[in-house]
Amino acid sequence: MARPLIISDCDGVLLHFIAPFIDYLREVHALTLAMDSFALTGNVRRADGSAVAPQEFPPLLDGFFADWMHNQQPIAGAADSLAQLARDCDVVVLTNIADHHATRRTHELARLDMPYRVIGNKGGKGEPLKKLLDEFQPSTAIFIDDLPPNHTSVKAHADHVHRLHMVAEIEVRHLIPAAPDAHARHDDWPAMLSHIETILKG
Ligand SMILES: [Mg+2]
Repeated sequence: MARPLIISDCDGVLLHFIAPFIDYLREVHALTLAMDSFALTGNVRRADGSAVAPQEFPPLLDGFFADWMHNQQPIAGAADSLAQLARDCDVVVLTNIADHHATRRTHELARLDMPYRVIGNKGGKGEPLKKLLDEFQPSTAIFIDDLPPNHTSVKAHADHVHRLHMVAEIEVRHLIPAAPDAHARHDDWPAMLSHIETILKG
């Protein structure tokens, strides 16, 4: 019988990203990242204050996921909430991370008591989410992500999916406005879990 499907983002929803990325930039590259605006590119600077050029940013992100992922700590309540949901739902992690990092991410999440299937993606999440709907044929689908454009993308491909906005990292919470294409926003897992349970009961 069809079960509900939970499709969750990883960075900023299940795992901390900003704090360990700042540590990585400082300790490995002697760079700083100040979250003065919600942008990574342009906010990474050298000791002399000069900004790292946009084309220098992707290798830094790649290096972080290759060498530093094990320092990403879980968001409070994420593992317990997903474990509770997984009793009655299928859970898939849809994360914008290169394919060659997705295997490591699968292991890292499992190590942190989140043993779920991980799909690496690039760009909009609407298309890969639609593929998951075709595969699982769920009774209900719920999408969780911290970035507003991902909600817009999912809305465009699968308008009936419940889209829930969560910005779990306090460092960027005030920089990210409520996603206009999400149905609701909850920035912590206890509140998110009770909202999801209400949807599932409906
Ligand atoms: Mg994210």
